Amino acid sequence: MTAYAAVIGHPVAHSLSPAIHNAAFAALGIDARYEAVDVAVGDVPEVVDRMRSERWLGMSVTMPHKEAVIASLDDLTPIARSLGAVNCVFFDGDALVGDNTDGAGVVWALRERLDVDPVGRRVVVLGAGGAARACIAALAEVGAASIVVVNRSVERAVSAAALAPEVGRALELADPQAEHEVVAADIVINATPQGMAGADAGESGGSAADGPAHVPGAGQVALDLVYHPLRTRWMERAEARGAQAANGVGMLVGQAAVAFERWTGRPAPTDAMWAAVADRLG
Ligand code: NAP
Repeated sequence: MTAYAAVIGHPVAHSLSPAIHNAAFAALGIDARYEAVDVAVGDVPEVVDRMRSERWLGMSVTMPHKEAVIASLDDLTPIARSLGAVNCVFFDGDALVGDNTDGAGVVWALRERLDVDPVGRRVVVLGAGGAARACIAALAEVGAASIVVVNRSVERAVSAAALAPEVGRALELADPQAEHEVVAADIVINATPQGMAGADAGESGGSAADGPAHVPGAGQVALDLVYHPLRTRWMERAEARGAQAANGVGMLVGQAAVAFERWTGRPAPTDAMWAAVADRLG
């Protein structure tokens, strides 16, 4: 019988996850189908019940359900527990377990797309929202030497830096020390929406299209979590200064690959997954 998996969200029609996972199933000859299911706020318990009774292979969870889904699950992985957010649900025996693979996706992107291992590296994360928090927890777990969280609101920076208890520090975006930290870093990650098509500059000043004001240079790695446009101005500015840069497609494929491995127990065919995204995004 054909196995079933889905991403739940609201809205979810734009999701690239069906293309990525269906390409992976096809590449490995797994008889499974993955769909995007629009689930209204409040209907999450019902869809989790369906997953349980119909024994779905797996479920991805996207906005706005990443926190709400937790109440319907039996258990959480340590990283999902510390983040308080779930993007992947899998069966462990009969128990439904919530995981968060977003940060592992960032680690994958650094290793596989930028050829840099974050172990022992000094990292600056620009932003302190959901994507930043996932990065920070995963980078601390793999052993980054330091993680400096630079954010507009210092309270959110402090909360995010606490996810990296030994190595995390928080700085307000307006603090002059932030530029020194960026200059001293090995890896700088843009985890804000700045530079995304249609983003608003807000209080950051300058043009939203240019991305964050802090830009890494020679000998440094710039990972932009934005992938629309595929080549952001921030990546271009970093490359012009001599940095090695990549966009957010690596995180997208990486988080999906880790979820796929949870569901199937098999190594994810990341080339096929990457090709599916490239096909969709051009
Ligand atoms: P979020 O929870 O809304 O957090 C946004 C963060 O960006 C906050 O820290 C916010 O600062 C900061 N920020 C927003 N506008 C800013 C501005 N104009 N100037 C300075 N800082 C600003 O969003 P998220 O879910 O973490 O997502 C962040 C970005 O990551 C997304 O826009 C997307 O481009 C990217 N992303 C990529 C993937 C992927 O698979 N590649 C997955 C998820 C997200 P305050 O705390 O001060 O408000």
